[in-house]
Amino acid sequence: MKRSEYLKSFRLRIFIVIVIAVLVSATVMRVASGANLRDRMLDQRTKELTEQIRVLASRMKNYDFFRDTSSEAINSQLSQLSTVYEGRILVIDQGFRVISDTYDISVGKYMIGEEVIRCYSGQNVTNYDRSSRYIEVAVPVTEKDGVTGEMMVGGVILASAATDAILRTTDDISRRGWIIEIVLVVVMIGIGAGVASLMAKPFERVSKAMGSVVSFEEDLPVVSDYKETQEIVDSFHKLRQRLKTLDESRQEFVSNVSHELKTPIASIKVLADSLNMQEDAPLEMYKDFMHDISDEIDRENEIITDLLELVRMDKGSSGMHVENIKVNELLEQITKRLGPLARKSEIDLILESRREVNADMDEVKMTRAITNIIENGIKYNKHPGWVRIVLDADHQYLTITITDSGTGIPESELGHIFERFYRGDKSHSKEISGTGLGLAITRKTILLHRGSIDVSSVLGEGTTFTVKLPLSYIEGGR
Ligand code: ADP
Repeated sequence: MKRSEYLKSFRLRIFIVIVIAVLVSATVMRVASGANLRDRMLDQRTKELTEQIRVLASRMKNYDFFRDTSSEAINSQLSQLSTVYEGRILVIDQGFRVISDTYDISVGKYMIGEEVIRCYSGQNVTNYDRSSRYIEVAVPVTEKDGVTGEMMVGGVILASAATDAILRTTDDISRRGWIIEIVLVVVMIGIGAGVASLMAKPFERVSKAMGSVVSFEEDLPVVSDYKETQEIVDSFHKLRQRLKTLDESRQEFVSNVSHELKTPIASIKVLADSLNMQEDAPLEMYKDFMHDISDEIDRENEIITDLLELVRMDKGSSGMHVENIKVNELLEQITKRLGPLARKSEIDLILESRREVNADMDEVKMTRAITNIIENGIKYNKHPGWVRIVLDADHQYLTITITDSGTGIPESELGHIFERFYRGDKSHSKEISGTGLGLAITRKTILLHRGSIDVSSVLGEGTTFTVKLPLSYIEGGR
């Protein structure tokens, strides 16, 4: 498979989608859970520390620690807490002076930090300093004012606790998470590859089945894994049916053509052979036979001309030479040209133009098409008889109706007369000349002009052909 083809493969794309989905969800989960865990643990630790300091604050009150910092119990608790929390505890009095420091560095110094000031308004202050990785907690120690009896802040306990242990734990968990994630991603990619190939299978089956079809009769597989695959198979089946019909009609056409082309040749051969075999054939006989041979050649010529015309028209509307023409004049010319043939058969040709009509059409092709219909009216008629041609139009379409007083067409034949090489029973028995291609050419011409042709007939009374054509030609006819 070429590289670009491989990139377009359904299987690869599904695989890529699965991999992206796995990676994205794994990353989101890791980031969310990792950050969450750290935040929760820090929060927990802050609360714990605040609680401890608050307990300490209330004990300080009892021991009156702000006036006498020598209390053993409080000092030992202070150092114990600072050890447990790996931090430092400062006790600051109302005058912002440090009266106790577990590090023993700042006793006697003044500390006017933001937390301390906020704490003096009675709030607990907690803060996590991300850069130094310390939790800071400031808790006010409240006591009753000896004079007014109101609660007032007697001092502040400022405690900090290291978060290294927490960060170590969360880092450790996240490292383990990474490993699990990598393993999971690898496993999921494996599963993804499997799933992608499983999902692509039905399409591969469809393509394999279609590729291996060699005959029209072969059964197609049912690939109902997906609605889409079954639709592809069904569409393929329909296409195959259409091709089959096309193939059958092509074969029939070829065999008809060969048969029709062979008939005059066979007659010529018989005529020539009988002349050859007869010694001293009289000149009269030669002339007679040669006349027949010439007729057969004319017929052959007629078939070939008609066939070429049809084949040319099969190519579509590309060979059309459309001009705006006067349809009344066109019909007059046709009837004039067919006059002698009609008179010979004692047929009265009547042309009735209800109005002046101009329309876009290929004059040569349309002349041929209309001539075919009128000629048929003359050929398949009683003697004497008539053929009436009526031209009418509205603002969009023109209508030409051609009615004859002829033999009519049996109901069973009506559906076939436009088929190539179709000739009615009577036409054969009566030995009326024709190729069976005339109406096929007519119909094709009319369709190329985006028009329609209809026929109605009463046996023994006559036939009417109705041709409807648009006045303006639209490119792209059938
Ligand atoms: P053909 O060369 O046989 O005339 P067409 O394609 O023109 O071929 O016509 C096909 C058949 O339709 C004819 O053989 C004939 O049986 C029948 N047909 C056509 N036009 C008429 C008509 N006006 N009256 C009776 N039958 C007709």
